[in-house]
Amino acid sequence: MSRIGPREPGIVELTPRRSLTDLLWVANTRHGPGGHWFARVVEDSGDHDHLGQPGSAVKYLADHKVELPAAEVTAADLRALDAIREMVRGLLDPAQGWTPAARAILEQTRFRIDADRRLAAEGAGWAGFAGDLMVPLIQLVEIRDRLQICANPLCRLIFLDLSKNRARQWCDNGGCGNRVRVRRYRTKQRATEAPGSYSPR
Ligand SMILES: [Zn+2]
Repeated sequence: MSRIGPREPGIVELTPRRSLTDLLWVANTRHGPGGHWFARVVEDSGDHDHLGQPGSAVKYLADHKVELPAAEVTAADLRALDAIREMVRGLLDPAQGWTPAARAILEQTRFRIDADRRLAAEGAGWAGFAGDLMVPLIQLVEIRDRLQICANPLCRLIFLDLSKNRARQWCDNGGCGNRVRVRRYRTKQRATEAPGSYSPR
């Protein structure tokens, strides 16, 4: 403390334009065939990649209520989103951190801050969108131990487990959680109903 005030720079809270959920939906543009909750999937036909086509990327993100720029998505924009996505998914591995491609986006991004402490990446359209995602990405690295992948092996959506006991298993309790519970129940029933499977009590 000096006589006139604190000597150390203080931490300022800033409100970014993008949330952790926005970031996670970008990361989930690649997922298993069970990652669409309406889909009945029995075998693993490989990942769905919604960044393969601009239309598919826009639809997937809009369907998950991510507010999107009005501009057209270019191939370069899709590459930036892919770099962000792969960095986030890589964080599931404790040995992985910032990737060179994600760091390059961070280094290119310039931010404006207004008097209401709002923080916004410079750049119009999708470049600004990718830039704005750098803030939740920094936040996510801080809490990466909360990042989980759905316990349904066919799903592969990732989510943040912010529960106290950190025991959350499913991307969505009513989606994968319910589906896997029903499957287990049916398998068990079939086993007990199968002829010849008499077990003495
Ligand atoms: Zn799931």
